Amino acid sequence: MMFHEMKEKDVEKVLNSNIDQGLSDSEVEKKRKQFGWNELQEGEKQSALMLFISQFKDFMVLVLLAATLISGLLGEYIDAIAIIMIVLINGCLGFFQERKAEKSLNALRELSAPQVVVLRNGEWSKIPSKEVVVGDILKFSSGDRIGADVRLVHTANLEIEESALTGESVPAVKTIDPITEKNASLGDLTNMAFMGTMVTRGNGVGIVTGIGMNTAMGKIADMIQNAETMMTPLQRRLEQLGKILITVALLLTLLVVIAGVVHGHDLYTMFLAGVSLAVAAIPEGLPAIVTVALSLGVQRMIRNNAIVRKLPAVETLGCASVICSDKTGTMTQNKMTVTHLWSGGNTWTVSGTGYHPKGNFYKDKEEIVPHKEKSLYQLLTFGLLCNHAEIQMKDDEFIIDGDPTEGALLVSAMKAGMTRESILKQFTIEKEFPFDSTRKMMSVVVKDKNGKRFVITKGAPDVLIGLSESVLWDGKMQSLSLELQRGIQSSIENLASKALRTIAVAFKPLQEYTNIMHESEAEKGLTFVGVQGMIDPPRPEVKQAIKECHEAGIKTVMITGDHAITAKAIAKQLGILKGKSKVIEGSALNEMSVDELENVVEEVSVFARVSPEHKLKIVKAFQNHGHIVAMTGDGVNDAPAIKSADIGIAMGITGTDVAKEASSLILLDDNFATIKAAIKEGRNIYENIRKFVRYLLASNVGEILVMLFAMLMSLPLPLVPIQILWVNLVTDGLPAMALGLDKPEDDVMKRKPRHPKEGIFARKLGWKVVSRGFLIGLVTLLAFLTIYRKNPDQLEYAQTVAFATLVLTQLIHVFDCRSEKSVFNRNPFGNMYLVWAVISSILLMLIVIYVPSLQQIFHTLPIIPKDWLLIVGLSSVPTFLLAGSLFVRKKE
Ligand code: ATP
Repeated sequence: MMFHEMKEKDVEKVLNSNIDQGLSDSEVEKKRKQFGWNELQEGEKQSALMLFISQFKDFMVLVLLAATLISGLLGEYIDAIAIIMIVLINGCLGFFQERKAEKSLNALRELSAPQVVVLRNGEWSKIPSKEVVVGDILKFSSGDRIGADVRLVHTANLEIEESALTGESVPAVKTIDPITEKNASLGDLTNMAFMGTMVTRGNGVGIVTGIGMNTAMGKIADMIQNAETMMTPLQRRLEQLGKILITVALLLTLLVVIAGVVHGHDLYTMFLAGVSLAVAAIPEGLPAIVTVALSLGVQRMIRNNAIVRKLPAVETLGCASVICSDKTGTMTQNKMTVTHLWSGGNTWTVSGTGYHPKGNFYKDKEEIVPHKEKSLYQLLTFGLLCNHAEIQMKDDEFIIDGDPTEGALLVSAMKAGMTRESILKQFTIEKEFPFDSTRKMMSVVVKDKNGKRFVITKGAPDVLIGLSESVLWDGKMQSLSLELQRGIQSSIENLASKALRTIAVAFKPLQEYTNIMHESEAEKGLTFVGVQGMIDPPRPEVKQAIKECHEAGIKTVMITGDHAITAKAIAKQLGILKGKSKVIEGSALNEMSVDELENVVEEVSVFARVSPEHKLKIVKAFQNHGHIVAMTGDGVNDAPAIKSADIGIAMGITGTDVAKEASSLILLDDNFATIKAAIKEGRNIYENIRKFVRYLLASNVGEILVMLFAMLMSLPLPLVPIQILWVNLVTDGLPAMALGLDKPEDDVMKRKPRHPKEGIFARKLGWKVVSRGFLIGLVTLLAFLTIYRKNPDQLEYAQTVAFATLVLTQLIHVFDCRSEKSVFNRNPFGNMYLVWAVISSILLMLIVIYVPSLQQIFHTLPIIPKDWLLIVGLSSVPTFLLAGSLFVRKKE
């Protein structure tokens, strides 16, 4: 018999499970040994050896190795071995860089791995879905992704979207009844839920019947292998650029070789020099350094509580020009405390802070006894009945398990001496219509001790007024006249203008009740009871973050389901709503087309009383204005907007799996300030990539030009091949990496967002590469010429001086690359990685020049102190000449 054909109890027995207690740890261990982990097998991975070998696949490296082999055969052993060593070290460096990149990408994947809620040893807890075993009891609700195949044992309005398995995009309604039909297809198995499918409504509990490859999803795992590319637009652009650079480098090298041969050098020497130059000039390490810079940046973001799920988002972050952010929990603390209550024309206040369930009630500043005031007592009772939250003590602090809004209602009732246990002695809850942010309310059907049934509804006051026919006024039912309606509304607005979030309760006696009653039937013809107003203080760091975003040319927009007046009050406190900026409500959005919204959207700073469905319209309107939009969300209905935003952001704490999977960034702390920090990091990563592209290319231009100039001037080779390769390895390696770790410039959040189509050479970078590269080549040649002209017999000495000049020029120039403006703009010790990289490169250079055994290999001679003056003087020219002239111009 299949699991779907059995009764729940039989499934429990067959799988040795326990629906009430779950499995024990020892049972889990045993089952894991038997069935393994709950994982889908991944596609084939590249082995470490293959990755290492792939470092030498480059055409020019192969030519170099072939040339070296020939020179080895011709007796140039030392040169050959040295070159091979350098190529090997270079390969190792590339290998480690790529491994590091791969590892950090894997770590990222682990971090965003799905979790499930499981019952074990009698307690519910959240665990990575990988740890689930057959027989586990899982619980899931709207927005969750199912972690394994399960046989359902409890459902409440459960609907699951199974299109990945069945192709059916309409969510399937689930029940627990056994299915007797023979040969039922997956789509017919209404009492099963399958790994990887999404809960779109309601909640449920089930026993795990299959894990890993042994699930319906496992059977088609090959088809759903994650094919998503992790390359960022910049990486793609650099790859294209790389191809152009290779061609240019090869052409120039060819020119060097031809010029050399024409001017009398022998072909073999020129060939080896040319190949070495080509290897050095081709920025083959660029893609790996970019990946490392990106992934290190991503790790820094994790430390700041932002997880990047899709690497391209790192770049897009730097272009963001609008952040559309939820209010509750993201801009505010989501720690709600009821401070005001209103019912039937009376207003009460209640003291106390946070979730501590102690406080007094006051009317007109006079303390009162709550259960003596009938309408107040009713308001509190209903707020407590229509409620899931629980209060707990943790580290001497009261915390809420559940929705903070409901927590506040629980606490206000407890302050009046009520508890859920006591209330549940008077009422039993028979049915629930769960909260959703489109309806903006939830209801329960309760039965009192006399067998009378009531619907109790709580939700947004304006919605509840619309559904009410009468109102409880001083304990008496009155018809809800237009006048009364206005009176209630103005009381609610009065609370909202104090930045209070308002929740109303209403009820209805039920004459008839059937289990299949629909929510639209229950939630109408209600009697309005009253409103509780709760504070939700802004997060202290958000105001500053919004200010910084503003200075960085980024507009912050608040999107909230809350009342417009509450939203307005908080937006004002946070500095979002200023001057001419507007508030638009969801009801107005319904009337507008995207085009109409587009006309006004630039002026809107707050969208209030919106439903998640409105978010998509808002994203589109901003995008049509050319904005790069970051949009936050947490629920299932937020997913389309998160997906179509340029940067979709999901909440780590309150976010559902659906929202997280649609997102490119997850905020671990749900905090707005984290978005700002991520944008700053995104801008910095991009700038750092520009910095080392600039450094590497200028260095390469310099290396090619010094050789080209010399050949055109009929001079001997200013650098021998091994020296060129050494420069490529040492000066281009460490300092470039260190530039990738640079801190942002002070004004990084004072600049306008970067245009997404901006090329890598924009903002004069191309000019800087060419001009600095030209000067690097020129001063190296000058150093060579000065020494060589003085003493033409000592070619090796002149080459050593040229070598030292080239290295030092690049090592000074690297500091210039740290700033968009000028080398004088930054403290040279601001990036200690760079300082150490430069110091070690200098030491390595001195070793190559002064250690006798290495002199032989690198064709160097010890440089006399006097010539160091020349070297240092010339080396400073490219950086200080250009930077200095800029400096002077700026001063003027
Ligand atoms: P944001 O979008 O900024 O997070 P929000 O949390 O207020 O705002 P929703 O959760 O969609 O947005 O809530 C919309 C409205 O629904 C709230 O203003 C409140 O009046 C009502 N509401 C919120 N939570 C509940 C709940 N648990 N039960 C009943 N009504 C609720």
